[in-house]
Amino acid sequence: MEREFICIICPNGCRIKVEHEGTNIKNIKGDECPKGKDYVKNEITNPLRVFTGSVLVEDGDFSLVSVKTLSPIPKKYLKKVGEITHRIKVYAPVEIGQVVAPNLLDNNIDLIATRKIEKKNSLSS
Ligand code: SF4
Repeated sequence: MEREFICIICPNGCRIKVEHEGTNIKNIKGDECPKGKDYVKNEITNPLRVFTGSVLVEDGDFSLVSVKTLSPIPKKYLKKVGEITHRIKVYAPVEIGQVVAPNLLDNNIDLIATRKIEKKNSLSS
């Protein structure tokens, strides 16, 4: 099978053409450094992505807080994490970096907040 990848490890964004059988790389072109081959190997065997989304906030000055996974997760989990995220609700205040949902799918996938949410009317109380 022949496929093309754009390496996202550095700003060069090398366009890498690879011929592979399963996870076995037969031929690779366009990788300007060894990290490119490692990137393609991961993309073929177990591609990882950072999940980003938003979660409902109760009693906050905004009704949603943006979230992301603390680290990249296997691409195959993105949909399930998205479905779980739709069912989560957190209570204000929320701090940047706060874990809003730990150990999702029993796979050490932590969801963290990426913005601060104050409690509603916190200035008047
Ligand atoms: S192959 Fe190397 S030089 Fe090219 S984008 Fe990837 S890390 Fe950067």
